[in-house]
Parts: sequence; C-alpha cells; structure tokens
Amino acid sequence: MRVLLLGGTAEGRALAAHLHPDVDVVSSLAGRVPDPALPVGEVRVGGFGGVDGLAAYLSEHRVDAVVDATHPFAATITAHAASACRRLGVPSVVLARPAWPHGRAIVVGSDAQAADVVAAQAFSRVFLTTGRSGTAAFSASNAWFLIRAVTAPDGHTLPPRHQLVLSRGPYRYDDELRLLRDHDIDALVTKNSGGDMTRAKLDAAEALGVAVVMVDRPALPDGVDTVTTVDDAVEWVRARG
Ligand code: NAP
Repeated sequence: MRVLLLGGTAEGRALAAHLHPDVDVVSSLAGRVPDPALPVGEVRVGGFGGVDGLAAYLSEHRVDAVVDATHPFAATITAHAASACRRLGVPSVVLARPAWPHGRAIVVGSDAQAADVVAAQAFSRVFLTTGRSGTAAFSASNAWFLIRAVTAPDGHTLPPRHQLVLSRGPYRYDDELRLLRDHDIDALVTKNSGGDMTRAKLDAAEALGVAVVMVDRPALPDGVDTVTTVDDAVEWVRARG
C-alpha cells in the first residue's frame, strides 16, 4: 500500500514515524522553509502543479491513499488534494488538529480584519504571529509590532515600526510570558492554528490580560473525511491496508 502524506507539520512527521517502514509512505513538503524538519522515510519536496499536477502524481506513483496533514491554514493544497482524490477515486482523509477555544479572543475572518481591529482598538504594541504571509495586511499600521515568523517576510510587506524574530516552535509558557512582558505587548494577533506547539502564547496573554485577536480557520472542502489525532490517522491508514 502506497500512501502520500501531505505534511509540513509536526503531526505529519509523527504520522510518518508511526507508519514507516510498515507502510510505503512518501511525505510531501512544499519547500517553503530552508532546512525543514524532515520526516522519516521517503520525502519529496515542491508543489505538484495544481490539481492536475497532483492528480498526475497520484496516478503515476500508484498512490492508494492520501493523508492531508498540512497546516489548518494551508487551504489551497487541502482543496487541491480533495479535488484530485475525488477525481481519481483515491481515498483521502484530512488530519485536522482541533482548533483552540476562542476564549475571550476577538475572532476575525482574515488578516485584513485583524488589522482593522488593531487600528479600531488603537492597540500600540502588537505581537504578530500570523506568519510570513500574514504581515502584508499590517504594512500601513501605525502600531509597533514584534513579528515572529519561521522565515522572513518580504521587506515591503512589513509595517514601518517593528522588530523581527525568526524562530520555530515549540514555545514554552515561561518564555512567552517573558516575551510579552519585556516588549510591553498590549495585543497578540494569531491564527487559530490549534495544537500544543504554539499555544503557550495564548496562556501567557491570558495571564497578563493581553488582548487576543484570533484569525479563524478557513473551512475544509465539502465532504472530506477528517480525523483529529495522529493515532486516528494511523488507524485510518491501517484500515485501508
Ligand atoms: P497553501 O497555500 O495551501 O499551498 C500553496 C501551494 O503550495 C499549493 O498549491 C501547492 O503547490 C504547494 N504546497 C503546499 N503544501 C504542500 C505540500 N505539503 N506538498 C507539496 N506542495 C505543497 O500552503 P501554505 O499555507 O503555503 O503552506 C505550505 C506548507 O507549509 C504546507 O505543507 C503546510 O503544512 C506548511 N505550513 C503552513 C503553515 C501556514 O500557516 N499556512 C504553517 C506551518 C506549516 P501546487 O499547487 O504547485 O501543488
């Protein structure tokens, strides 16, 4: 049985480790991050070329099943995988880690709406963690930003007043608390990524009374099968073996 595992996440790596070597798994990474954390087993890197390219890959490599363990905000590849698998009748499942509870966060539907909230509430020192592509919406903001991302955003997408921190999770509660305190942060802007690797910032914000602006997740494509844990994804694969 040959499985294509769309990854780029800790769950993707954990799933590859559970399945390899009993199952013939190929993990796929987009290739965005220099020096990525690599899953065990076979790995391919780079886009497929849209739905047609992915469908061609699935046929050519005789893929029997697809597990989409991409990040909850990687909506394009998730839509492409659902379409390509539907077209070819290849079974597929999305490993969708549970969302974080909203708590008292101000929930918005996009980075642009998050920027509107920052302006409307006159937040002045913002911890921005929406990633490399999440800074453009704030490029005209008057606030000061502590921007944390895995890879540097393009210079022209950055707000005029900011400090950039390049790093990769997981992050610890004590460190997040110190970061918020040291930079006198009054608002945290985050995606609702879910999972434990990056949730400590929410707990630290809660403890310090820092406002949270949370960008809600894009919807999953209609009709896709989902599981929420790596163990359930393992079972889903084994049930098809
Ligand atoms: P995206 O917007 O959904 O996808 C854009 C294009 O990148 C896709 O159309 C596809 O190109 C290619 N692609 C994405 N994921 C791929 C994969 N696993 N293998 C091969 N090609 C892939 O994706 P994104 O938000 O840029 O995320 C890219 C990768 O980073 C994903 O693997 C995701 O799991 C990981 N990641 C994303 C985030 C986030 O916040 N978005 C956070 C952490 C990790 P083609 O159309 O040419 O096939």
